[in-house]
Amino acid sequence: MKKNTSHFRGCLLGGAIGDALGFIVEFMDIEEIKRTFGTEGINDLICDETSGKAVVSDDTQMTVFTADGLLWADYSGREGDTCSITDCVFYSYQRWFYTQTGRFADQEYDWLINNEGVDYKSELMKVEELMIRRGPGNTCLSALSKSVNKQYGTIDDPINNSKGCGGIMRSAPVGLYFHKSADKAFQMAAQCAAITHGHPSGYLSAGALACIISEIIDGKDINQAALHAASILKTYDQHEECLDILQRAITLSTKDVEPDDAVTSLGEGWVGEEALAIAVYCALKYEDDFEKAVRMAVNHSGDSDSTGAICGNILGAYHGLEGIPEKWIKNVELADLLSELADRLLVV
Ligand SMILES: [Mg+2]
Repeated sequence: MKKNTSHFRGCLLGGAIGDALGFIVEFMDIEEIKRTFGTEGINDLICDETSGKAVVSDDTQMTVFTADGLLWADYSGREGDTCSITDCVFYSYQRWFYTQTGRFADQEYDWLINNEGVDYKSELMKVEELMIRRGPGNTCLSALSKSVNKQYGTIDDPINNSKGCGGIMRSAPVGLYFHKSADKAFQMAAQCAAITHGHPSGYLSAGALACIISEIIDGKDINQAALHAASILKTYDQHEECLDILQRAITLSTKDVEPDDAVTSLGEGWVGEEALAIAVYCALKYEDDFEKAVRMAVNHSGDSDSTGAICGNILGAYHGLEGIPEKWIKNVELADLLSELADRLLVV
């Protein structure tokens, strides 16, 4: 059992570190990465001159809003309110949408700015680092801009046909929250991803990640956790694409294949199932070495910040803070906020 401060914080901080490392090279192909950083690629966080911190991207920003939405739902449940988990996460994503655009999809949501009329007082709208645009995903922006009158995307009534990795890259907190039930973690993360991503591979990949995090916190190793995610995946409609690539990633990690070639064979990670597969492959390949794994997860031609973030979530949950280089924990942006959210998810 890894239900403790170190592993909860490790999951969210590990994700932020992978995100920050990958954000620098998100739009570079591998040749450009090597030209810029040498043949090993980017291997250390680069701190911003003004803030002194390695900045995170939309992946971590949205992860923060997922965590806050879950905590809000938990609080509401205890207070006897009827706010469902997906409602609270949806409203939290509207807050994220506001930070990126200066507006909500619907004027009816204006109360979200200052918590008017709600007992759960979110502090996120006061956090400066969350107000900055860090490559927000178009699918998330567009889906949330359309969600008027609380009509957001669901699995049964998809808002679009997108399977971009914007659903999975923000899902780790769901696995922490539902650490007692991998099934529930899977189901709820898929539903929360479907708020913005309507293609099965867009939301099922999110379910799989939350399931893996939940299983790791429950004491399983990464391989067991990934196999369990695959077994739950099979029970959902239209799981074939996501299951196939997840199984390939698990198998590849046991083979004597050059890691660069293995990652390339899994795609570029712009879509959910590829991001899941690349992150799982890297986490399994370098299970005992957080640094090596996240470096592998970001040094490729694809969506480096998302694959880095997801790999960092998995290995951070697995090893806890002890497995993450101290200087990275010290240098990554939003570390205090992520630690606080992790601690609150731990005690609910
Ligand atoms: Mg990003």
